[in-house]
Amino acid sequence: MISVEEALEKVLSYVEVLEPERKPILDCLGQVLAEDVYSSIDIPPLDNSAMDGYAVRAEDTRGASESSPRYLVVVGEVAAGSMPSKEVKPGTAIRIMTGAPLPEGADAVVQFEDTDEVSRKSSSEELSRIGILCRAKKGLNVRCRGEDIAAGNLILEKGTVLRPQEIGVLASLGHSATLVIRRPIVAILATGDELVGVGQPLVPGKIYDSNTYAIAAEVSRYGGIPRILGIGRDSIQSLNEKIGEGLDADMLVTSGGVSKGDYDIVKDVLAECGEIGFWTVCMKPGKPLAFGVIKKSVGRKKRKVPHLGLPGNPVSSMITFEQFARPAILKMMGKKALAKPTIRAIIEGDITNTDGRRVFARVMVTRRGGQYYASLTGPQGSGILTSMTKADGLAVIPEISKEVKAGDMVEVQMLDWGEEQGEASKLPIVAIVGKSESGKTVLMEQLIAEFKKRGAKVAAVKHSHAGMEIDHPGKDSWKFSQAGSDAVCISAPDRLAFIKNVARELNIEEIPPIIGSEFDLILVEGFKRSIVPKIEVHRKELGDDLLCSPEELLAVVTDGSLDTLVADNRRPPVFRWGDTATIADFIERNFLRAVS
Ligand code: AMP
Ligand code: MG
Repeated sequence: MISVEEALEKVLSYVEVLEPERKPILDCLGQVLAEDVYSSIDIPPLDNSAMDGYAVRAEDTRGASESSPRYLVVVGEVAAGSMPSKEVKPGTAIRIMTGAPLPEGADAVVQFEDTDEVSRKSSSEELSRIGILCRAKKGLNVRCRGEDIAAGNLILEKGTVLRPQEIGVLASLGHSATLVIRRPIVAILATGDELVGVGQPLVPGKIYDSNTYAIAAEVSRYGGIPRILGIGRDSIQSLNEKIGEGLDADMLVTSGGVSKGDYDIVKDVLAECGEIGFWTVCMKPGKPLAFGVIKKSVGRKKRKVPHLGLPGNPVSSMITFEQFARPAILKMMGKKALAKPTIRAIIEGDITNTDGRRVFARVMVTRRGGQYYASLTGPQGSGILTSMTKADGLAVIPEISKEVKAGDMVEVQMLDWGEEQGEASKLPIVAIVGKSESGKTVLMEQLIAEFKKRGAKVAAVKHSHAGMEIDHPGKDSWKFSQAGSDAVCISAPDRLAFIKNVARELNIEEIPPIIGSEFDLILVEGFKRSIVPKIEVHRKELGDDLLCSPEELLAVVTDGSLDTLVADNRRPPVFRWGDTATIADFIERNFLRAVS
C-alpha cells in the first residue's frame, strides 16, 4: 500500500502544464494567464467628474455656504461620452455628468446637492445662474487621468488566475482576446456490465451510470473539458474500443473495474497497452486505484495519455477524483495552488479507523462562536452517494489515529472552497516537543535566533500548566481581571501583552488567529498531544525511547542515535543536536512562507 502523498506525487509527475492558446476573454474565466499584460492607454483617459454637478474653479467657491451662496454663470453642459465645448473661465461653471471629461479651466466639481439647482427648478428660476452652497477644494470629485491604470505599466502578471475582475480589467484595456494555458480535455469512461445510461429503461439487475456524470461535472468545475466516452462493458474488446476513442484527450479517467472481482478487467487491459502502476492507496474509501500511461499510435504519431482508474463505488470515485484527478487537472492548467483548503474543526461524533488507512469522512461544517464544527452526514458506505450531497467537507483522519472521539480537533478539506484559499490558510507552525529537561527551550532559542538571522518574523508560543508571570496579584492588570474584565491588554511603547480569559485551554490551532497573521513562522514549545507538525528533542541520558510515536513526528533532534530504537521504515528525519542551521533549513523548506 502506498500513501496518499506518494500516489499524488506519482500522478503529478506524469502530467505537464499544457500549452497556451489565445482566445476570447469571456472564455478564459478560471484559466491561467500565459503572458504579461501591459497597458497602452491611461484609464481613465482624461480627468473626469466623479459626480453629477457643476464643474467650477475651486477659487470661485471661496467663502461659499448655504447662507451665502456664490453665484456662477452657467455656460454649458457636458454629458458622459462627449467632450466639453467650452472652457470654465473665472465666475462661470459648466453643468457636468458623472464620467464626463472635466472642461478646461475647471479643477473641481460641486455635486448637485451642494448647489441651489433643485430650489431653482421648483421655483422656475432661470438655470443660467447657479448658486454654490459650499466651498470646494481643488480636485473635489475629480477622477484624474491614469489614476486607475497608467499607460506603459504591467497590469496583469503571467501566472495570474483570471477571475471576473481580471476579465473586466482586460476589457477595460480594450483586449478582446488573451493568451491563457489551455484547458485539459479529460475523457471519461464508466465500466461495468451492470450499467445503464440515463434516459434508458432500467431493467432488473441494472443500475444507472452516475459516475460519468459526477466525474464530468467535477472536470468542468475544476476547469477541464469533459469528453464522455460512455459505458464500457466488462470485456477486453469493449474496453479496448472505448479506451481507443479517448486517446486524443489529455487524460483518461475510468471508473470501476479495478478491484479484485473476476470481471474487474480494466487493469488487465491497461497492462496490455501501457505502463501501469496498480496501487492500493492507504485511504478509505478508495483503496483500489489504477494509474498508468496508455501508449497508442494515433496515425503515425505516438501518444502517451495518463490514465487514472478510479474505483467504481460512487463515493470512492468522487473522493479519489478529488485527491488525485483534481490536482492533475489544475497542474495541467498551470495553476500553482493544488491543495484543497483545510480547516480545523471539532468533530461532533466518533469515528473509528479499523485498518490504519487515512479516512475521508463526509461531514457538514458549521461555524459557531468563531469555531468550526464538523458532524458526520450519516451512513458512510462508499455506495451512498447522497452522503456526498449532504457534505461540504471531508474530515481527514490520519492513518495513525485508531479513533477520534466527539470533541477532538480534526482537519477538514473544504469541498466547495477554492484552492487559492488553501495556500493562505496553511499555517507555518511547528511544535518542539520532548520529555522534560530534554532541551526544548534551548532548541527554541537557537531556532528563533537562526530565523531572525534569516530575516523571518517569528512568534513563539509556550505551553504552561501553571499561571503566568505577568499576571501578578496586585498589578493593575490583575485588578482589572479581578473586577471582571474578560481580557486585559497592556500596551507599552515597544511591547504589547494581552491576557484573555478562556473557558478551557485552547488547542494550538486556535492560537495563531489571536497572535495575528503577520508572522512567517510560529514556533511552539510543548503541546505534545496536538496534531500540528512536531519535532521531538531526544536526549540519550533520558532514555532511548521517544515521547511521541515516530509516525507522528516531522523530525527528531538527538544527541544520541535512534538506530536500535526505531525501525528504518518508521524513522522520521533525524538531526544532530546543535546542528541548528540544518534543522532551520528543514523547517524553512517545509513550512516557511517565502522569506523576502
Ligand atoms: P467495481 O469497482 O467495478 O467493482 O464497482 C464497484 C461498485 O460500484 C459496484 O457496486 C458497481 O455497481 C458500482 N459502480 C461502478 N460503476 C458505476 C457507475 N458508473 N455508476 C454507479 N455505480 C457504479
Ligand atoms: Mg465493475
